[in-house]
Amino acid sequence: MTISLPAPVVGGGASGDQGFDAPVGRAEGAGTAALELSHADRSERFAQMRAGQLGSVHSWELVTAVDGPGTRMTVFLSGCPLRCLYCHNPDTMQMRSGDPVEASELLRRIRRYRSVFRATGGGITLSGGEVLMQPAFAATILAGAKEMGIHTAIDTSGYLGAACTDEMLDNIDLVLLDVKSGDPETYKKVTGRELQPTLDFGRRLAEKGIEVWLRFVLVPGLTDAPENVEKVAEYAATLSNVSRVEVLPFHQMGKDKWQSLGLDYQLADTKPPTNDEVESVRARFRKRGLTVY
Ligand code: SF4
Repeated sequence: MTISLPAPVVGGGASGDQGFDAPVGRAEGAGTAALELSHADRSERFAQMRAGQLGSVHSWELVTAVDGPGTRMTVFLSGCPLRCLYCHNPDTMQMRSGDPVEASELLRRIRRYRSVFRATGGGITLSGGEVLMQPAFAATILAGAKEMGIHTAIDTSGYLGAACTDEMLDNIDLVLLDVKSGDPETYKKVTGRELQPTLDFGRRLAEKGIEVWLRFVLVPGLTDAPENVEKVAEYAATLSNVSRVEVLPFHQMGKDKWQSLGLDYQLADTKPPTNDEVESVRARFRKRGLTVY
């Protein structure tokens, strides 16, 4: 179906792993433009954040064919506990670098796109950074969207899955779960953190019957070892709720950001995988009966 999107289509770009799959319909734009920012003072802001009424937002955008079904409003929250070597939006890692946006303001904006979501089978996707760095704010937005009858998704590494309450899970239709490696040592090398919380979160989602799209970024020389890929595939195959796997080829689109932030970018010389390499990894997942993109 072809639809006209309400203008403006804005946003500052993806920051989880979602932008790795050639952004069909993803628009670069203006961060938090078109959202009214909070002018509360510092102490008031902390209280509002704790209560889930205020969030630190990096950007938002309307996208089609990424971040979940249909046309979606993807909201990128600031702050992330991981330090992925391949992060293509390192400017989302610090929560303080986001803009203060009230939940009511974001929900007002979401409401405006209800007819678009309905017409396309779309909805909202909360991404980051790491959405679960701001669980109270995320919970408010997810509950508000559900009240409006809107399909909801979160894009997460699962590392902070323990911060996701059961009540919050009740308001989530789909989880884009970024499994950055299957081997704990490789995971640590890639992210600086442990793998186990992600595995635990995926299992909890399976127990709850919440649909998962599992994402894996293929980085030559870092995540592409056959044993590592096998472990991710094996894990995915044990989860009854994984309806698709996305193997996303590493790219160099974040390189300039690392440099402009004065951060040490260790993958400057890493080449993207070839199409054949990507396809052969996809085939490993398919062999286990998974639907793979
Ligand atoms: S999870 Fe990794 S890739 Fe995603 S925002 Fe955090 S550091 Fe970047």
